[in-house]
Amino acid sequence: MNFDRHRRMRRTAYMRDMVRETKVGKEDLIYPIFVVEADDVRKEVPSMKGVFQVSLNLLEKELAEVNDLGIKSVIFFGIPNEKDPEGTGAYHDHGVVQEACRLSKKHYPEILVILDTCLCEYTDHGHCGLIDSKTQDVDNDLTLPLLVRTAVSQAKAGADIIAPSNMMDGFVSEIRKGLDDNGFRHIPIMSYGIKYSSKFYGPFRDAAESTPSFGDRRTYQMDPANRLEAQRELESDLAEGCDMMIVKPALSYLDIIRDVRNNSNVPVIAYNVSGEYSMTRTAVDMGLLDEAVIMEQMVSMKRAGADMIITYFAKDICRMIDEGME
Ligand SMILES: [Zn+2]
Repeated sequence: MNFDRHRRMRRTAYMRDMVRETKVGKEDLIYPIFVVEADDVRKEVPSMKGVFQVSLNLLEKELAEVNDLGIKSVIFFGIPNEKDPEGTGAYHDHGVVQEACRLSKKHYPEILVILDTCLCEYTDHGHCGLIDSKTQDVDNDLTLPLLVRTAVSQAKAGADIIAPSNMMDGFVSEIRKGLDDNGFRHIPIMSYGIKYSSKFYGPFRDAAESTPSFGDRRTYQMDPANRLEAQRELESDLAEGCDMMIVKPALSYLDIIRDVRNNSNVPVIAYNVSGEYSMTRTAVDMGLLDEAVIMEQMVSMKRAGADMIITYFAKDICRMIDEGME
């Protein structure tokens, strides 16, 4: 009896579509772009084939391609000309991502712009905040006001969503307050609150040129072995006023995505990180795996409960959708 029902449901392609539980559409995708402040750079990231660092002056062309493919959202990461111990480039009114945002809004106002709010791409030591000279650790309380300044300058530049990737204690509530006080009550916060200490971030550091020069970021990222800790992070970020929650990485953390989906009513974003991209990209390029695994991975994230996916595969996926692949 059950077997017959199973067969009936799969009889035609139309029926299969109708009963399909999970779909990946272009509107689910957020495409990360590495923007270089220096002129005339379009350089492939060695550890991420198919992903480029693009100069501000060449960004319009990149956005034209993104727009033509039907990608609706982007997140910019900045590569400034100069870095310093205080990460001043992060909160400069004409910093690289602020300018990237203005340019995007000018030419493609309909593309949603998310800006990553952290200092690590702008500090010469590569850490996410100011360093206490005695302990060589990031000083939480000194860093928070700079994160607020960064978020406000990004909102002023026209960002649609602020995405703090910093994990300082109290970062969401401080940024929320800073945005509210400066007339940006309507700008949502997409928190990276559930961020595991992962080796899958390796290629990103290459792409964003942000490898820490000493120590690591493990003190403010979560242990991959912990699941309940994610629940505590989720609860504290929600209490602080975050509007959307990122889980990072994605593929080895599908259980965490499902937990967040089941235990909150905010949109959940899976960050399909650089190492996950490079691993799959390499296997597909070498002919070891069919390209369809890319879509299968996206489906797995949505099935786990993700509403959106930040992925370097966004362009490939749009092409696949255009070619009728599901
Ligand atoms: Zn950071």
